Amino acid sequence: MSKGLYIHVPFCRRKCLYCDFYSVTDFSLSDSYVNAVIRNIKARGERYDTVYFGGGTPSLLSGRQVYAILSAADIESCAEISAECNPDSADINKLSELHSAGINRISLGIQSLDDRELKMLGRLHDSAQAVLAVKNARASGFDNISADLMLGLPFQNIETVKSNISRLSELEINHISAYMLKVEENTPLAEKTELVSNIADDELSADIYLSAVELLEEKDFYQYEISNFSHRGYECRHNLKYWKCEDYFGTGPSAHSCIDGKRFAVPKDICGYIYSERQQEIITDENACSDEERLMLSLRLAEGCPIPENGGERIIKAAKELQRHGLLNISDNRIMLTPKGFLVSNSIICLLSEAMEE
Ligand code: SF4
Repeated sequence: MSKGLYIHVPFCRRKCLYCDFYSVTDFSLSDSYVNAVIRNIKARGERYDTVYFGGGTPSLLSGRQVYAILSAADIESCAEISAECNPDSADINKLSELHSAGINRISLGIQSLDDRELKMLGRLHDSAQAVLAVKNARASGFDNISADLMLGLPFQNIETVKSNISRLSELEINHISAYMLKVEENTPLAEKTELVSNIADDELSADIYLSAVELLEEKDFYQYEISNFSHRGYECRHNLKYWKCEDYFGTGPSAHSCIDGKRFAVPKDICGYIYSERQQEIITDENACSDEERLMLSLRLAEGCPIPENGGERIIKAAKELQRHGLLNISDNRIMLTPKGFLVSNSIICLLSEAMEE
């Protein structure tokens, strides 16, 4: 069975205030990095039906570099090939280059259509550039366009979130990833007490999330995962592999992989990555995709999971109780969380896992 290929592109023009993804701002290493990616893909020698360039900022790579990477991999002709792209590096020439290089799905890091919010996050683009990026993507031949949206920003309320979603849904996009802001330790945002103290509390965050889900559904973006919404048929095939415990190989500093029941990660060290003949891989989980983990991952999906045979009776009993509280539905021998259930998914997963183990 073909696998997913994830390529971590560890370059950004500048670090955003909230970000703890691995990236560096020195782009002079980009050609050596691309050669290392090519070496590692060839050394692995797998066949792929999805490819995802994440980052970092993949749109800082040139079309020539992306083409060279894709040419090194054995990729099925009908593969989904995504690249994340920031609106500040999404001019029509760059997008056309990426499209010609083989990218067929673009994921734009829009985050907000409110200039004040974008500035607060330390993003390099404004809302006009974000709107233009979508137009440029269409004009460059992309018909599969996703946008990232952040929820729960400082000073945000339900009205400002609704306005963001309404404006975003008017653009020609097919997919929206809507993530709640998380203040990570050791990021500049964590030091900004005035901003942090004005982030929505749990109650407002829950209201924001539920209103966002409702409005997105109204706008024809159906929820297929806790944080992902799309027009029918535009679900991200690559990310579905993560939640369905399917195999994927990750390359690039900080990339993760899951193959044959083992998870491993590449160290966050661009020089180590570039100058090693083969990427270093640290095993992070010897027993990935256990029944418990499958349950945990598949409950992130709106389609839910089949009731496991192991502990089925006990799980049904626990699930029925949760159903009474509107947190999940049981149908056709499957358990599916409701949006209200997604809000407390960690607790539900613990409860069901315990029932499975008893
Ligand atoms: S562009 Fe993306 S990866 Fe780079 S710093 Fe900003 S959020 Fe992080």
